[in-house]
Amino acid sequence: MKTIGYAAHSAGADLVPYNFDRRDLRPNDVAIEILYCGVCHSDLHTLHGDWGPQPYPLIPGHEIVGRVMEVGPQVTEFKVGQNVAVGCMVDSCQDCDQCAKSEEQYCRNGMTPTYGAPDRITGEITQGGYSKNIVVRKEFVVNVPDSLDLSKAAPILCAGITTYVPLKRWNVGKETRVGVIGLGGLGHMAVKLAVAMGAEVTVISRSMKKETEAKELGANGILSSSDAAAMKKAASSFDFILDTVPVKHDFNTYLPLLDVDGSLVVVGQVGPMEEIMTPGLIFGRHRIAGSLIGGIKETQEVLDFCAQHNILPVCEMIPMEKINQAWKELTTSNPAHRYVIDMSSLRLE
Ligand code: NAP
Ligand code: ZN
Repeated sequence: MKTIGYAAHSAGADLVPYNFDRRDLRPNDVAIEILYCGVCHSDLHTLHGDWGPQPYPLIPGHEIVGRVMEVGPQVTEFKVGQNVAVGCMVDSCQDCDQCAKSEEQYCRNGMTPTYGAPDRITGEITQGGYSKNIVVRKEFVVNVPDSLDLSKAAPILCAGITTYVPLKRWNVGKETRVGVIGLGGLGHMAVKLAVAMGAEVTVISRSMKKETEAKELGANGILSSSDAAAMKKAASSFDFILDTVPVKHDFNTYLPLLDVDGSLVVVGQVGPMEEIMTPGLIFGRHRIAGSLIGGIKETQEVLDFCAQHNILPVCEMIPMEKINQAWKELTTSNPAHRYVIDMSSLRLE
Protein backbone atom coordinates (compact mmCIF):
# COMPACT_ATOMS: atom_id res chain seq x y z
CA MET A 1 0.00 0.00 0.00
CA LYS A 2 1.39 3.38 -0.99
CA THR A 3 1.30 5.80 1.91
CA ILE A 4 2.96 8.88 3.38
CA GLY A 5 4.45 9.84 6.72
CA TYR A 6 6.89 12.28 8.26
CA ALA A 7 10.40 10.89 8.60
CA ALA A 8 13.78 12.07 9.82
CA HIS A 9 16.66 11.21 7.50
CA SER A 10 19.39 11.52 10.13
CA ALA A 11 19.78 11.97 13.89
CA GLY A 12 18.28 15.27 15.01
CA ALA A 13 17.12 16.29 11.51
CA ASP A 14 13.67 17.85 11.04
CA LEU A 15 10.86 15.51 10.09
CA VAL A 16 9.85 15.87 6.44
CA PRO A 17 7.19 14.23 4.21
CA TYR A 18 8.20 10.74 3.14
CA ASN A 19 6.39 8.51 0.66
CA PHE A 20 6.74 4.80 1.29
CA ASP A 21 4.97 1.43 1.03
CA ARG A 22 3.25 -0.48 3.80
CA ARG A 23 3.42 -4.25 3.36
CA ASP A 24 0.67 -6.25 1.65
CA LEU A 25 -1.65 -7.83 4.18
CA ARG A 26 -0.58 -11.16 5.63
CA PRO A 27 -3.45 -13.49 6.60
CA ASN A 28 -3.39 -12.29 10.25
CA ASP A 29 -2.91 -8.58 9.52
CA VAL A 30 -5.10 -5.55 10.03
CA ALA A 31 -4.71 -2.46 7.80
CA ILE A 32 -5.54 0.76 9.61
CA GLU A 33 -6.18 4.30 8.47
CA ILE A 34 -4.45 6.38 11.14
CA LEU A 35 -6.62 9.27 12.30
CA TYR A 36 -4.61 10.54 15.27
CA CYS A 37 -1.15 9.95 16.69
CA GLY A 38 0.19 11.20 20.02
CA VAL A 39 3.63 12.78 20.32
CA CYS A 40 5.71 10.98 22.95
CA HIS A 41 9.03 12.23 24.30
CA SER A 42 10.44 8.81 23.35
CA ASP A 43 9.90 9.79 19.69
CA LEU A 44 12.41 12.62 20.21
CA HIS A 45 14.85 10.51 22.21
CA THR A 46 14.88 7.84 19.51
CA LEU A 47 15.06 10.07 16.44
CA HIS A 48 17.67 12.33 18.04
CA GLY A 49 19.84 9.26 18.60
CA ASP A 50 19.77 9.52 22.43
CA TRP A 51 19.30 5.74 22.59
CA GLY A 52 21.86 4.78 19.96
CA PRO A 53 22.03 4.80 16.16
CA GLN A 54 18.77 4.40 14.23
CA PRO A 55 17.89 3.10 10.78
CA TYR A 56 16.99 6.28 8.86
CA PRO A 57 14.79 7.36 7.18
CA LEU A 58 12.61 6.70 10.18
CA ILE A 59 9.01 7.62 10.97
CA PRO A 60 8.25 7.85 14.71
CA GLY A 61 4.90 7.55 16.53
CA HIS A 62 3.50 4.86 18.82
CA GLU A 63 0.26 6.32 20.12
CA ILE A 64 -1.89 5.37 17.17
CA VAL A 65 -5.65 5.55 16.83
CA GLY A 66 -7.58 4.89 13.65
CA ARG A 67 -10.09 2.86 11.73
CA VAL A 68 -9.82 -0.63 10.25
CA MET A 69 -9.58 -0.46 6.43
CA GLU A 70 -9.06 -4.11 5.61
CA VAL A 71 -8.38 -7.39 7.39
CA GLY A 72 -6.55 -10.58 6.40
CA PRO A 73 -8.53 -13.83 6.01
CA GLN A 74 -7.55 -15.13 9.47
CA VAL A 75 -8.80 -12.03 11.27
CA THR A 76 -12.20 -12.43 12.90
CA GLU A 77 -11.61 -10.11 15.86
CA PHE A 78 -11.78 -6.83 13.91
CA LYS A 79 -14.20 -5.52 11.31
CA VAL A 80 -13.75 -2.89 8.62
CA GLY A 81 -14.73 0.50 10.03
CA GLN A 82 -14.03 -0.41 13.65
CA ASN A 83 -12.10 2.05 15.88
CA VAL A 84 -8.81 0.51 16.86
CA ALA A 85 -5.43 1.44 18.27
CA VAL A 86 -1.79 0.40 18.19
CA GLY A 87 0.79 1.23 20.85
CA CYS A 88 4.52 0.80 21.25
CA MET A 89 4.87 -2.77 19.91
CA VAL A 90 3.83 -4.47 16.68
CA ASP A 91 5.17 -7.99 17.21
CA SER A 92 6.88 -10.43 19.59
CA CYS A 93 7.77 -14.13 19.48
CA GLN A 94 4.34 -15.17 20.85
CA ASP A 95 6.02 -18.30 22.14
CA CYS A 96 7.87 -17.52 25.38
CA ASP A 97 6.62 -17.36 28.98
CA GLN A 98 6.41 -13.55 28.91
CA CYS A 99 4.32 -13.52 25.73
CA ALA A 100 2.11 -16.25 27.24
CA LYS A 101 1.42 -13.87 30.16
CA SER A 102 0.73 -11.01 27.75
CA GLU A 103 3.87 -9.25 28.93
CA GLU A 104 5.04 -8.97 25.34
CA GLN A 105 7.15 -5.93 26.21
CA TYR A 106 9.43 -8.34 28.08
CA CYS A 107 9.42 -10.98 25.32
CA ARG A 108 12.45 -13.26 25.84
CA ASN A 109 13.26 -12.94 22.16
CA GLY A 110 12.76 -9.18 22.05
CA MET A 111 9.53 -7.46 21.09
CA THR A 112 9.35 -5.52 17.84
CA PRO A 113 8.83 -1.81 18.52
CA THR A 114 6.36 0.10 16.35
CA TYR A 115 9.20 1.95 14.64
CA GLY A 116 12.89 1.49 14.03
CA ALA A 117 13.25 -2.31 14.22
CA PRO A 118 13.37 -5.10 11.66
CA ASP A 119 10.08 -6.85 10.86
CA ARG A 120 10.31 -10.44 12.15
CA ILE A 121 9.49 -11.91 8.74
CA THR A 122 10.93 -9.64 6.06
CA GLY A 123 13.52 -7.66 8.03
CA GLU A 124 12.22 -4.36 6.64
CA ILE A 125 12.31 -1.54 9.19
CA THR A 126 9.08 -0.84 11.07
CA GLN A 127 7.73 2.68 10.54
CA GLY A 128 5.56 4.44 13.12
CA GLY A 129 2.35 6.34 13.42
CA TYR A 130 3.23 9.81 12.09
CA SER A 131 1.74 8.44 8.88
CA LYS A 132 -1.50 7.87 7.05
CA ASN A 133 -1.74 4.08 7.29
CA ILE A 134 -0.27 1.14 9.13
CA VAL A 135 -0.44 -2.65 8.78
CA VAL A 136 -0.15 -4.62 12.04
CA ARG A 137 -0.67 -8.24 13.03
CA LYS A 138 -3.98 -8.66 14.84
CA GLU A 139 -2.43 -9.64 18.19
CA PHE A 140 -1.02 -6.10 18.51
CA VAL A 141 -4.21 -4.25 17.63
CA VAL A 142 -6.56 -3.19 20.45
CA ASN A 143 -10.14 -2.01 20.46
CA VAL A 144 -11.04 1.60 21.29
CA PRO A 145 -14.26 1.61 23.34
CA ASP A 146 -17.03 3.57 21.58
CA SER A 147 -17.47 5.96 24.49
CA LEU A 148 -13.89 7.27 24.22
CA ASP A 149 -13.48 10.39 22.09
CA LEU A 150 -11.28 9.09 19.30
CA SER A 151 -9.52 12.43 18.86
CA LYS A 152 -8.27 12.27 22.46
CA ALA A 153 -7.62 8.57 23.03
CA ALA A 154 -4.21 8.25 21.34
CA PRO A 155 -2.02 9.18 24.35
CA ILE A 156 -3.51 6.29 26.33
CA LEU A 157 -1.52 3.95 24.05
CA CYS A 158 1.82 4.95 25.56
CA ALA A 159 1.48 7.66 28.24
CA GLY A 160 -1.58 5.86 29.63
CA ILE A 161 -0.30 2.29 29.68
CA THR A 162 3.20 3.27 30.89
CA THR A 163 1.77 4.98 33.97
CA TYR A 164 -1.18 2.62 34.55
CA VAL A 165 0.99 -0.49 34.89
CA PRO A 166 3.29 0.69 37.72
CA LEU A 167 0.37 2.28 39.59
CA LYS A 168 -1.43 -1.06 39.41
CA ARG A 169 1.66 -3.22 40.13
CA TRP A 170 2.45 -1.17 43.23
CA ASN A 171 -1.15 -1.50 44.44
CA VAL A 172 -1.94 2.19 44.35
CA GLY A 173 -5.44 2.61 45.71
CA LYS A 174 -7.55 4.48 48.18
CA GLU A 175 -5.45 6.95 50.15
CA THR A 176 -2.08 5.85 48.76
CA ARG A 177 0.13 8.94 48.85
CA VAL A 178 1.39 9.24 45.28
CA GLY A 179 3.92 11.69 43.90
CA VAL A 180 4.33 12.22 40.17
CA ILE A 181 7.61 13.82 39.10
CA GLY A 182 7.32 15.82 35.86
CA LEU A 183 3.95 17.07 34.63
CA GLY A 184 4.14 16.31 30.92
CA GLY A 185 2.54 13.67 28.70
CA LEU A 186 3.14 10.72 31.01
CA GLY A 187 2.86 12.74 34.21
CA HIS A 188 -0.56 14.17 33.45
CA MET A 189 -1.93 10.70 32.67
CA ALA A 190 -0.37 9.34 35.86
CA VAL A 191 -2.23 11.99 37.86
CA LYS A 192 -5.59 11.22 36.23
CA LEU A 193 -5.20 7.46 36.60
CA ALA A 194 -3.95 7.58 40.20
CA VAL A 195 -6.81 9.93 41.18
CA ALA A 196 -9.29 7.49 39.60
CA MET A 197 -7.71 4.71 41.66
CA GLY A 198 -8.48 6.71 44.80
CA ALA A 199 -4.97 7.96 45.59
CA GLU A 200 -3.92 11.29 47.12
CA VAL A 201 -1.78 12.71 44.35
CA THR A 202 0.87 15.42 44.46
CA VAL A 203 2.64 16.69 41.37
CA ILE A 204 6.37 17.20 41.91
CA SER A 205 7.41 19.80 39.36
CA ARG A 206 10.44 22.03 38.94
CA SER A 207 8.43 25.11 39.92
CA MET A 208 4.90 26.07 40.94
CA LYS A 209 4.06 27.17 37.37
CA LYS A 210 1.84 24.17 36.67
CA GLU A 211 -0.22 24.44 39.86
CA THR A 212 -3.48 25.21 38.04
CA GLU A 213 -3.03 22.32 35.60
CA ALA A 214 -2.13 19.93 38.43
CA LYS A 215 -5.30 20.79 40.34
CA GLU A 216 -7.47 20.61 37.21
CA LEU A 217 -6.17 17.07 36.68
CA GLY A 218 -7.33 16.16 40.18
CA ALA A 219 -4.07 16.42 42.12
CA ASN A 220 -4.31 17.49 45.75
CA GLY A 221 -1.35 19.78 45.34
CA ILE A 222 1.97 20.57 43.73
CA LEU A 223 5.44 20.48 45.26
CA SER A 224 8.26 22.47 43.73
CA SER A 225 11.48 20.47 43.68
CA SER A 226 13.45 23.72 43.58
CA ASP A 227 11.96 24.90 46.89
CA ALA A 228 14.35 23.36 49.44
CA ALA A 229 12.17 24.22 52.44
CA ALA A 230 9.05 22.69 50.87
CA MET A 231 10.99 19.57 49.88
CA LYS A 232 12.29 19.23 53.42
CA LYS A 233 8.80 19.62 54.84
CA ALA A 234 7.53 16.93 52.46
CA ALA A 235 10.15 14.38 53.62
CA SER A 236 8.77 10.86 54.27
CA SER A 237 5.32 11.78 52.98
CA PHE A 238 4.91 9.50 49.94
CA ASP A 239 4.22 5.78 49.57
CA PHE A 240 4.86 5.74 45.85
CA ILE A 241 6.59 8.11 43.44
CA LEU A 242 6.49 7.81 39.67
CA ASP A 243 9.42 9.54 37.98
CA THR A 244 8.78 10.68 34.40
CA VAL A 245 11.70 13.11 33.98
CA PRO A 246 13.12 12.77 30.43
CA VAL A 247 16.73 13.77 31.18
CA LYS A 248 19.49 12.56 33.49
CA HIS A 249 18.75 13.83 37.00
CA ASP A 250 19.67 13.35 40.63
CA PHE A 251 17.45 10.78 42.36
CA ASN A 252 18.84 11.86 45.73
CA THR A 253 16.63 14.96 45.43
CA TYR A 254 13.49 12.83 45.48
CA LEU A 255 14.30 9.72 47.53
CA PRO A 256 13.93 11.47 50.95
CA LEU A 257 10.31 12.14 50.01
CA LEU A 258 9.53 8.42 50.38
CA ASP A 259 8.10 7.10 53.64
CA VAL A 260 9.40 3.81 55.09
CA ASP A 261 8.82 1.03 52.54
CA GLY A 262 8.11 3.55 49.80
CA SER A 263 9.01 2.94 46.17
CA LEU A 264 10.24 5.23 43.44
CA VAL A 265 9.52 3.85 39.99
CA VAL A 266 11.44 5.27 37.06
CA VAL A 267 9.82 5.30 33.63
CA GLY A 268 11.54 8.32 32.14
CA GLN A 269 14.83 9.09 30.49
CA VAL A 270 16.18 5.55 29.96
CA GLY A 271 19.86 6.36 30.34
CA PRO A 272 22.47 6.39 33.12
CA MET A 273 21.49 7.46 36.65
CA GLU A 274 23.38 9.81 38.92
CA GLU A 275 25.01 8.06 41.88
CA ILE A 276 22.51 7.13 44.56
CA MET A 277 23.25 7.52 48.27
CA THR A 278 22.64 4.20 50.00
CA PRO A 279 21.92 5.33 53.61
CA GLY A 280 18.54 6.80 52.67
CA LEU A 281 17.61 3.60 50.86
CA ILE A 282 18.64 1.38 53.74
CA PHE A 283 17.23 3.44 56.60
CA GLY A 284 13.88 3.78 54.84
CA ARG A 285 13.74 0.32 53.23
CA HIS A 286 13.12 2.20 49.99
CA ARG A 287 12.89 0.58 46.60
CA ILE A 288 13.91 2.01 43.27
CA ALA A 289 12.44 0.18 40.29
CA GLY A 290 11.79 0.59 36.59
CA SER A 291 8.85 -0.22 34.34
CA LEU A 292 8.46 -0.52 30.56
CA ILE A 293 5.12 0.31 28.88
CA GLY A 294 2.72 -2.64 29.36
CA GLY A 295 1.49 -5.76 27.60
CA ILE A 296 -1.34 -5.97 25.09
CA LYS A 297 -3.87 -7.30 27.61
CA GLU A 298 -3.18 -4.40 29.97
CA THR A 299 -3.21 -1.95 27.06
CA GLN A 300 -6.79 -3.02 26.37
CA GLU A 301 -7.44 -2.86 30.12
CA VAL A 302 -6.25 0.76 30.45
CA LEU A 303 -8.40 1.80 27.46
CA ASP A 304 -11.40 0.15 29.13
CA PHE A 305 -10.45 1.71 32.50
CA CYS A 306 -10.34 5.17 30.88
CA ALA A 307 -13.74 4.56 29.24
CA GLN A 308 -15.21 3.40 32.54
CA HIS A 309 -13.84 6.35 34.55
CA ASN A 310 -14.35 8.98 31.84
CA ILE A 311 -10.63 9.66 31.66
CA LEU A 312 -9.28 11.37 28.57
CA PRO A 313 -5.79 12.75 28.06
CA VAL A 314 -5.51 16.51 27.72
CA CYS A 315 -4.60 16.93 24.07
CA GLU A 316 -3.41 19.84 21.97
CA MET A 317 -4.25 18.98 18.40
CA ILE A 318 -1.66 19.91 15.78
CA PRO A 319 -1.49 19.44 12.01
CA MET A 320 1.35 17.22 10.76
CA GLU A 321 3.38 20.14 9.45
CA LYS A 322 3.65 21.62 12.97
CA ILE A 323 5.47 18.57 14.33
CA ASN A 324 8.98 20.04 14.36
CA GLN A 325 7.74 23.02 16.35
CA ALA A 326 5.90 20.73 18.79
CA TRP A 327 9.10 18.73 19.36
CA LYS A 328 10.93 21.95 20.18
CA GLU A 329 8.21 22.88 22.70
CA LEU A 330 8.66 19.52 24.44
CA THR A 331 12.19 20.48 25.37
CA THR A 332 11.58 24.20 25.99
CA SER A 333 8.10 25.10 27.25
CA ASN A 334 7.33 21.56 28.57
CA PRO A 335 3.52 21.59 28.23
CA ALA A 336 1.50 19.76 30.89
CA HIS A 337 -0.40 17.82 28.22
CA ARG A 338 0.10 15.79 25.04
CA TYR A 339 0.41 17.03 21.48
CA VAL A 340 -1.69 14.88 19.16
CA ILE A 341 -1.29 14.95 15.39
CA ASP A 342 -4.50 15.14 13.36
CA MET A 343 -3.67 12.92 10.38
CA SER A 344 -6.37 14.47 8.20
CA SER A 345 -3.76 17.20 7.69
CA LEU A 346 -1.56 14.70 5.84
CA ARG A 347 -2.48 14.02 2.20
CA LEU A 348 -1.18 11.32 -0.09
CA GLU A 349 0.88 13.01 -2.81
P1 NAP B 1 7.23 15.18 28.38
O1 NAP B 1 5.83 15.30 27.91
O2 NAP B 1 8.28 15.98 27.73
O3 NAP B 1 7.20 15.48 29.97
C1 NAP B 1 8.33 15.38 30.77
C2 NAP B 1 8.20 16.33 31.97
O4 NAP B 1 9.38 16.16 32.76
C3 NAP B 1 8.17 17.79 31.62
O5 NAP B 1 6.88 18.30 31.35
C4 NAP B 1 8.74 18.44 32.87
O6 NAP B 1 7.77 18.54 33.90
C5 NAP B 1 9.76 17.41 33.34
N1 NAP B 1 11.09 17.80 32.90
C6 NAP B 1 11.49 18.16 31.66
N2 NAP B 1 12.79 18.49 31.63
C7 NAP B 1 13.22 18.33 32.89
C8 NAP B 1 14.48 18.53 33.51
N3 NAP B 1 15.53 18.98 32.79
N4 NAP B 1 14.57 18.27 34.84
C9 NAP B 1 13.53 17.84 35.54
N5 NAP B 1 12.30 17.65 34.99
C10 NAP B 1 12.16 17.90 33.70
O7 NAP B 1 7.74 13.67 28.27
P2 NAP B 1 6.87 12.31 28.30
O8 NAP B 1 6.37 12.01 26.94
O9 NAP B 1 5.95 12.38 29.45
O10 NAP B 1 8.02 11.24 28.58
C11 NAP B 1 8.74 11.27 29.79
C12 NAP B 1 9.86 10.27 29.77
O11 NAP B 1 9.32 8.94 29.80
C13 NAP B 1 10.74 10.29 28.51
O12 NAP B 1 12.07 10.06 28.91
C14 NAP B 1 10.23 9.12 27.69
O13 NAP B 1 11.18 8.59 26.81
C15 NAP B 1 9.93 8.14 28.79
N6 NAP B 1 9.00 7.06 28.43
C16 NAP B 1 9.23 5.85 29.01
C17 NAP B 1 8.36 4.81 28.77
C18 NAP B 1 8.57 3.48 29.46
O14 NAP B 1 7.99 2.49 29.02
N7 NAP B 1 9.32 3.41 30.52
C19 NAP B 1 7.27 5.00 27.92
C20 NAP B 1 7.06 6.25 27.38
C21 NAP B 1 7.92 7.30 27.64
P3 NAP B 1 7.80 19.79 34.95
O15 NAP B 1 7.74 21.03 34.11
O16 NAP B 1 6.55 19.52 35.72
O17 NAP B 1 9.02 19.69 35.78
ZN1 ZN C 1 5.87 6.67 24.18
